[in-house]
Amino acid sequence: MTAQMQVTRALFDEVMVPNYAPAQLIPVKGQGSRVWDQSGRDYIDFAGGIAVSSLGHCHPALVGALKHQAEQLWHLSNVLTNEPALRLAKKLVDATFAEKVYFCNSGAEANEAAFKLARRWALDNYGAQKQDIISFSKSFHGRTFFTVTVGGQASYSDGFGPKPGAILHAEFNNLDSVKALITEHTCAVVLEPIQGEGGIIPGDDEFLRGVRQLCDQHNALLIMDEVQTGVGRTGKLFAYMHSGVTPDILTSAKSLGGGFPVGAMLTTETVAKHLKVGTHGSTYGGNPLACAVAEAAIDTINSPEVLQGVLRNEQLFRECLTAINDKYQVFAEVRGKGMLLGAVLNERYKGRSRDFFLASADQGLLALVAGVDVIRFAPSLVITEQEIREGMQRFEAAVKQVTELQPA
Ligand code: PLP
Repeated sequence: MTAQMQVTRALFDEVMVPNYAPAQLIPVKGQGSRVWDQSGRDYIDFAGGIAVSSLGHCHPALVGALKHQAEQLWHLSNVLTNEPALRLAKKLVDATFAEKVYFCNSGAEANEAAFKLARRWALDNYGAQKQDIISFSKSFHGRTFFTVTVGGQASYSDGFGPKPGAILHAEFNNLDSVKALITEHTCAVVLEPIQGEGGIIPGDDEFLRGVRQLCDQHNALLIMDEVQTGVGRTGKLFAYMHSGVTPDILTSAKSLGGGFPVGAMLTTETVAKHLKVGTHGSTYGGNPLACAVAEAAIDTINSPEVLQGVLRNEQLFRECLTAINDKYQVFAEVRGKGMLLGAVLNERYKGRSRDFFLASADQGLLALVAGVDVIRFAPSLVITEQEIREGMQRFEAAVKQVTELQPA
């Protein structure tokens, strides 16, 4: 029956909950940074499944790890531990500030664990009054009710009844706004080193250092949400390594599994010990299949070859975007780091990122938006020079289409 079923985009509107509005094309195959839709048309992938497909589609190391593990053991639950999870945790600990790891299945779950841990750490050490979490406007930490409330957009968290309390929002890159909110009641400050969904806004080193200092002064934990920036995306294994500002808790997902769902919360021994047996958990977290794939991803990505390649790719992206902008004058700036870049639309084209996104798809390019003013690129870390150049030709055609057919 399945073989005869006609699968079309119209079926989405018929059978799916309408919380998404996917593009019209349905990709059916991917290889490297190229995907093909049902009609066989090819697209260059500058989106990477929203900063997820860190090694492109069907990378042999990930396919090999998945196939191997699929023939060994799929699932155990957390009543038992497993070898891939332990190997992955050891590699994450060896490569970062962390001493302990908790596995889950998504970025939101990693942040949910981080926020619960921060609250429990504060309760155990300082008492019930210390529960404020300071986050930032335009931040994004996931869609569970706790994480979406910590996130900086009320429009995502309104309309679902009473919200979790003791959550405050400061202004990103504005240390005074943090000073105005932080007190002895603050248990944690959470930030993205580069705000992703909020528009690819890098945190200034001075701001990050200042937040670290304020956390230390007020006995609060610094949580870095590296769900979007982590696992090589900015040219280092984690973005915190650029600034030298070390968090107490770090969350990872997206690129960690290269397309296989997995999330992780990393922390120190002194903080971790407050999540005692039974305080938190997940049936699938640390699943052998997910951890085997993530281990292969970390092994491949955490190498000078791949990490330096990310910075070379950034250079080429910036050169191509500058050349396109010289011709069409659409961007005010290109910001971000490594393979997480945002082309910010200038005054003339403000508010029209979706037009560029749709025109890109018309021209055979998968791009992303980050809000209405920014076109986001988050491709594979190992995208080839040829794929970048071909994708940029298509992007230029999209820019031409928007500026000529739908001028500002
Ligand atoms: N945190 C950040 C910084 C993100 O960019 C995202 C997703 O875009 C999340 C958390 C949520 O991750 P997930 O969608 O895997 O729950």
